[in-house]
Amino acid sequence: MKHLMPELPYAMDALAPVMSEETLAFHHGKHLRTYIDNLNKLIAGTLYEDMELEEIVCKATGSVYNNAAQAWNHEFFFDSFTSTPQPVSARLAALLGKSFGAFADFQRQLTEAAVGHFGSGWAWLVEDGAGGLTVCTTQNADCPLTTGLRPILTFDVWEHAYYIDYRNRRADYVNGLWNIIDWAKVEQRIG
Ligand code: MN
Repeated sequence: MKHLMPELPYAMDALAPVMSEETLAFHHGKHLRTYIDNLNKLIAGTLYEDMELEEIVCKATGSVYNNAAQAWNHEFFFDSFTSTPQPVSARLAALLGKSFGAFADFQRQLTEAAVGHFGSGWAWLVEDGAGGLTVCTTQNADCPLTTGLRPILTFDVWEHAYYIDYRNRRADYVNGLWNIIDWAKVEQRIG
């Protein structure tokens, strides 16, 4: 199965100034494309050739895993934003409040995890097997699916995600992301 580039659910200039058209042109158009192109080349003629992306992420190692996980992580990341953000619903606020105490505590924890993560990687809101919501980070390409956690929201903190718009100011990038989250989509992901 050939893995295809996902369409963005918004126009390339719709998330500016939080995420500029130039950033999306590089981040989606070049970085993600490279991961998908590499994955397609690496799996040709292997046992991974006919697997769904999620299955490859959970079963592969090495370069196949790195490219598959980066493809999955980026598709999930880009599918988390909107040009017309709406407030968090009462149901989602209650779910987050149950695990974190208050929405503000969840927001602080994910922000601190994203800003404080050393090097390249991802900060996540995940759901564990018991329905609890927690914040964690992963290094490089690593994806929580491999440890049985269900991803609910992620912030990409690789430098390529923010260097065009923010240079080294990762905290400004992370704070900006809060303004473009598609909360309805986030809520749908909770089991
Ligand atoms: Mn990225």
